[in-house]
Amino acid sequence: MSILCSFLRQCGEGGTSKKAQVPFAEFIERDEQATKSPDRLKNPHGFYRDMAQKMVGEYQAQLKEFLANTQLLARQPVVAPTLKSACTLCNDGLMPAGGYCSCEVGVLRQQIAEHQSKSAGATA
Ligand SMILES: [Zn+2]
Repeated sequence: MSILCSFLRQCGEGGTSKKAQVPFAEFIERDEQATKSPDRLKNPHGFYRDMAQKMVGEYQAQLKEFLANTQLLARQPVVAPTLKSACTLCNDGLMPAGGYCSCEVGVLRQQIAEHQSKSAGATA
């Protein structure tokens, strides 16, 4: 078993991976980028331990940032979309003579009105 394999097994059995799971494929990818001359490593065990710890740290930082952003998003008020009609027949979905226009805004207004009257009827 190589030093890398034994180290990763060690991590999986209660080592650094308990803090954050770094996918094995990413570890190998980082190794290929970082380790130009593997046979010249003086302390391979330490080298891979440091690399894994660094990756775990990066993962935790990413997770922290993600959670912070999610909490930030959760606090944002939900804003209803503004309807803008390009229709020239109606005034914002309402016909001058009364009733709803057949355009997108008119149909939506009618659906909302019908839903509201149904809801009002259900509670009365
Ligand atoms: Zn219209």
